[in-house]
This record gives sequence, C-alpha cells and structure tokens, in this order.
Amino acid sequence: MSDYPAGLIDGFTRGTHLLRAGLCDEAMVEFRAVYAEARHLPDEDLMAACLCEMGWCSYKLGQTEQALECAMGARGLRQRQGNTTELARAMAVEAIVFLDLGFSDEAFDLSAEAVDLAQAGSDPAILAFALNAKGLVLAVCRETELGMALIERAVALAAEQANIAAEAYYLLNLGFCHTKIAEEAETFGEPGRAIGEREAAIDLSERAIVRAESSGDHWTLRVALCNTAEMLGLQGRHDLALAYLERHSSLPGDPGPSLRIHYLYTLGDIALRSGDLAQASSILEQALALADSTQQLDHQVNSARKLAEVLETMGDAAAALAIYKRFHALYVTQSGETARRRARIEAIRAETEQWRSRATTLADQALNDALTGIANRRSFDQILNRLAGTPIALAVLDLDHFKSVNDRFSHIVGDAVLQRVARAIVDQIGPHGHAARLGGEEFGLIFPDASEAIAAAFCEGVRIAISCTDWSDMAPGLEVTASIGLAAGDGTAPSGELMQLADNRLYIAKHNGRDRLVLADDPNLDKQRWRA
Ligand code: GH3
Ligand code: MG
Ligand code: MG
Repeated sequence: MSDYPAGLIDGFTRGTHLLRAGLCDEAMVEFRAVYAEARHLPDEDLMAACLCEMGWCSYKLGQTEQALECAMGARGLRQRQGNTTELARAMAVEAIVFLDLGFSDEAFDLSAEAVDLAQAGSDPAILAFALNAKGLVLAVCRETELGMALIERAVALAAEQANIAAEAYYLLNLGFCHTKIAEEAETFGEPGRAIGEREAAIDLSERAIVRAESSGDHWTLRVALCNTAEMLGLQGRHDLALAYLERHSSLPGDPGPSLRIHYLYTLGDIALRSGDLAQASSILEQALALADSTQQLDHQVNSARKLAEVLETMGDAAAALAIYKRFHALYVTQSGETARRRARIEAIRAETEQWRSRATTLADQALNDALTGIANRRSFDQILNRLAGTPIALAVLDLDHFKSVNDRFSHIVGDAVLQRVARAIVDQIGPHGHAARLGGEEFGLIFPDASEAIAAAFCEGVRIAISCTDWSDMAPGLEVTASIGLAAGDGTAPSGELMQLADNRLYIAKHNGRDRLVLADDPNLDKQRWRA
C-alpha cells in the first residue's frame, strides 16, 4: 500500500494493530475513517481493504449483518479488480459471517472458492485463513474430521510464518472441533470418547490462550478462556474452570456485549454444575438482560433456556414456567429469523450491488474523461507527479480550427471527432505512452523514459493517423488535422517547465501552417505570426 498518503497508511496500520489486540470497537473507528477518505479519493483498493477489516471487526463485535454488508462490499470490489488473492480473503470473511447467521450452504460455497483461489495465489496467510474458514464450515456441517484436517493445516501455516495471533485463532477453532466431536459422542452414548475429546479441546484451547496472550489478542484470549472453562466445567473441574473465568474478568478493556454474555453464560453454567443455584440464577438473569438489551437473539434463547433449567432445579416452578414461556417465544422468533435474515441478506446484496456501481462511476469520473473515456487532466498530472525526476518526453496536441468543425458540422459531430481522435492517439502510442484529454480539443501525451526521437516518431504517427483518416463518414467534407508540440527532459527540470516548452512549440506549429509536429527549436520556423 505504499502508494497511499502516509496518513491513510498510518490509520490502516493502527486499525490492524487494534484489531489484533482484540480492541474491535477502536479498530472499527480507524478503519471507518480511512474508508471514508478512500471513498473520497476514490481508491477502490484501499476501500476494499478497509471493508474487509470492517467486516471482521463487526463479526467479532457480534454485529453480524453489518459484518455481512462489509464483507460483501469487499468481495464485490475485489472481484471487479480481479485481485483473486485478496478476493479469497474477503470470501473467507463472508463465509464465516454466513456461518454465524446460520446459512451453511452459502458459507460452504464461499469458503470452498476462497480456498481454491488462495491455493492458486501465493500468500500463505490468506491460504491459512481460507482453510480455517472452510474447516469451520465443515465442522458446523457435521463433517468435523474433514474440517479439523483443514484447520490443522492452517495452524501449521501460521506457525511456519511465526504469526502467533493467527495461530492462536486457528488453535481455538481446532479446540471447537473437538468440542463438537465430544457433543456427538455424548449423543451417541459414548461418554468415554466424549471425555477424551473434551480433554483434547482443553489442551488446544490452552495452547490458544498462551499464544493469544503473547500476541496481545484479547478477543481470541477471551473466547479461549471461556471455552476452556466450559469444557473444564463439563469435566467436573469447577475450581480450575472458575480460575480461567477469573482471568477473563481481570483482562483490561470492555469485551463488548457479545463476549460479556458468553462469559456470564459460562459462569452461570459452572455455578449450576457446582450446585450454587442462587448464584447461577442471578448470573443467568444478568446474561439474559444483557442479551435482551442488545437484541442478540441467539444469546437470548440460550440464556433463557439455561435460566429456566436453573429455576426448575431450584424448585421455583412458577418462575421456571415464566422463563420457559419466554424461551419458547424466543425460540419461535429464532425459527422465523431464518426467513427474515434471508430477506435481509437479499436486501444487503441489492444495496451492495447498487453502491458498487456508484463507487465505480465515481472512480471513473475522477480519473477518466467522460466524453472520450481516456485519462483526464487529473490523472495526467498524477502520472507526471509519479514520473517526477525520471526522463520523459511530453507532447501537447491541439486540433486545428476545431471551432469551425463545430460551426460547420454541429457540436455532435465535434464530439464524435474528439472521441475518434482519442482512439487514434491510444492506438498509435499503445503501451509506449500515456494519453489524456487535457480539456477542450487539447490532448497530452507522456512517453516515460523515451528519447525525443522516439517520442517524435510516435507523435508523427498520431498526426498522420488523424490527417489521413477518412472523416467523411461522420460528415461529408469533414477534415481534421492536429498540431503537436513536443519536449523531452532528463528528469532534472520540473515537469511544469517541460509542459511550457511543449506548449510553446505547439504555438509555433500553429504559427507555421498547422498539421505539423514541432520538437527542437527550428530556426526556419516563424515564431511570430499566428494565423488563426
Ligand atoms: P486553433 O487551430 O487555433 O486551435 O483553432 P481552434 O478553433 O481549434 O481553437 P479555439 O481555441 O478557438 O477553439 C476551440 C474550440 O473547441 C472551441 C470549443 O467550442 C471547442 N470545444 C471545446 N471543447 C469541446 C467539446 O467538448 N466538444 C465540442 N464539440 N467542441 C469543443
Ligand atoms: Mg485549443
Ligand atoms: Mg484548436
């Protein structure tokens, strides 16, 4: 991203560091600011990078729909750019978000394509991220063994690259896979296997904790501490479980509602298991209240169910019944939620589509001339700035007596002439130079690292192409010629001076009969008389 203004790179880097530290709210603020700037420029590459990170932040904050909107936006831009490696990253984020929303089919398709794209690319970090996404999807779809194999590869890739933060996150997910297998074993009436799998999950989560701690990633650390505590609770090791939760609550900073509910839920569950029912019900009430106030439906359902269970165990039948009724109502809403989410996803898709075409138009307008489609003055200046200090040849081309083309044949014909001239210039100079419409009937040509002689040959080609074109198909009797001034420099003089020199030579070409190219000062040319 070295081409961006320093302020933007700083902002983006700050965002990345904050995200790595698990400070998702703060990271979001940074990415939003950079995104706004990037959109203003507009710079699609930076926009897409910000959207991808914003999607990831929102996901971690539990704002799943916003996460989806960002991830879809990032994917759309990457697709348009044809940047398949970064496309893989955006698709992997989108897959994980879809999984969170409960749409595993979409999640599977996206993650599978992300892996294919990443495998064809050369960035091992993106490949690891995509493998992890597909592994998670498979695990949720009850293909846990297959999923684990992919996440194990992700862990190995992250370890190879010494990316401890990524390694921690993949280890966390590997632990989650063992938890899933333990659940399956329990359902199939194999308690022995369930215990073994839970021990494996604890082991992996502990490894995730160590790495998350040393990388400073408090998001992964919090999730891993909760997961370990939950597994320890299930194994009857309540004291150790509480010690893990104690570490969780002693971490600095606000974990955000989603992680806070997860923490309270786990704490309540362990209190229940260790027989402290009063404590369990009070904690689960807090979890439910927080889930209610932040409208986190999945958390509401889980907390209500667990709270009802506790109240029932306590023998408080009336309170238990009231909460069961709430749980039931929430559960019904959750079932209808799939349809609502599906509709919302379609709406986000449509919005993203619309917005993307708007962003594209903006980008094109900012750098391309609307009539001819070639570069405009702004991008001409940008190219000059980029080439500052290097040898270039620079030409200014102006159509001859263009006013009379308009007067005799109409503005519509004049416009068509400008379009055809632009095409002729581009065809003639090909990849050897840059062409821009500077305004009106004036064009600028830049030849990087070209001698005056070579640039002159291209300019002469352009001039002849214009004058030899049969223009009569546009309007009978129409003829078009151009005058060109050319100047070459070794990079020591500022481009403004070179531009002035080229302009002076154009002026001389006009003085001396038009339809000609003027390069070095020619003593035979009349510099005084301007025949309009
Ligand atoms: P010269 O050979 O001295 O350059 O004569 P000229 O008539 O080309 O120069 P002048 O600067 O007097 O006129 C330029 C004309 O270009 C005037 C303006 O109407 C026309 N023009 C500028 N922009 C456009 C455009 O976008 N479309 C059309 N059709 N004409 C344009
Ligand atoms: Mg002019
Ligand atoms: Mg002119």
